[in-house]
Amino acid sequence: MTTTTALVVTRHGGPEVLALEEREVPDPGPGEALVEVAAGGVNFVDAYKREGIYRMSPPYVQGFEAAGTVRAVGEGAAVAVGDRVAWSMVDGLHAGLVIADSSRLLPVPDDVDLETACAATLQGLTAHALVTGCYPVGEGTIALVHAAAGGVGQLLTQMITSRGGTVIATAGSHAKLEIARSRGASELIDYSDTDDLASEITAAAQRLGATKGVDVAYDGVGKATFDASLASLRPRGTMVLFGGASGQVPPFDLQRLNAGGSLFVTRPSLAHYISEREELMMRGRELFDEISSGRLDIAIGGRYSFADAAEAYRALEGRETTGKLILVP
Ligand code: NDP
Repeated sequence: MTTTTALVVTRHGGPEVLALEEREVPDPGPGEALVEVAAGGVNFVDAYKREGIYRMSPPYVQGFEAAGTVRAVGEGAAVAVGDRVAWSMVDGLHAGLVIADSSRLLPVPDDVDLETACAATLQGLTAHALVTGCYPVGEGTIALVHAAAGGVGQLLTQMITSRGGTVIATAGSHAKLEIARSRGASELIDYSDTDDLASEITAAAQRLGATKGVDVAYDGVGKATFDASLASLRPRGTMVLFGGASGQVPPFDLQRLNAGGSLFVTRPSLAHYISEREELMMRGRELFDEISSGRLDIAIGGRYSFADAAEAYRALEGRETTGKLILVP
């Protein structure tokens, strides 16, 4: 029996509960592939699960995103030995060797390296779903993007502007706002340095000619920004609450949607935008095309060994990072 080193959440808690353990790896069954992982993605969702906010029972191998090379396949697999692949939205991917459902593996084009593919997959598929599925961003769209120097934030900003939209970006420091600017944002707001975020966003929208408010607000920060995001929308605008980096948004009165001008609110999960294989493959193809053609630049903000994973999560959860962190076995 083959064994592999895996990153295990030993109990609920902070990054200190992560430990490296040896785990057995079975042979791939029908439709499965054995993938040698080249990189694993560091995501907020790993922390939500580790802390017990999303239900997972420790001990478990963590990891919701990886890229690597297929080393063996079971009968009827959708990939071949030697294929370079990336995948996400499945638990247990932070290990040297992983058994995968081959129908969920995205082919990585030759001109995209595996670390970039890993860094792009979960956040890139998310950003793609947010700008195509949750709201049809196009020429003239005025969008608010919170935490615009973050992983999803940088990708969103690039995807919105490359589709002809304009971005009002928020971030927690001047340096982070400069990153958002370099990704194409037009208006920059330091939300760590304001008493009235809603008014600042409204003023920025007005400078862009959006006198009634923004078309769409992309909010992955959640609790700290939700009210200002809702207040920033034009009548019939769309609020896309896609995460809660600052905490989950408490229940709220639906009449606020009426008062705000027949607003829409959606709370998407990527899972529902890639549940059908055809849609997953379409989003993967378009994402990697954008990277190959140079329209989308993937910023790897840090590279940590599996043994130093706790440090990576401390940095992410401590708001110290920009772009995407990856783990290498
Ligand atoms: P980021 O790289 O964006 O990191 C989160 C950022 O949020 C921080 O850098 C920080 O930026 C900002 N932030 C504001 N308040 C806090 C706080 N109290 N604690 C920590 N961070 C804070 O992370 P990701 O790109 O990985 O994820 C962004 C969001 O997208 C998360 O909420 C995540 O859960 C969500 N997500 C949702 C998916 C879905 O399917 N719905 C899929 C993938 C991600 P700053 O310092 O500038 O404020």
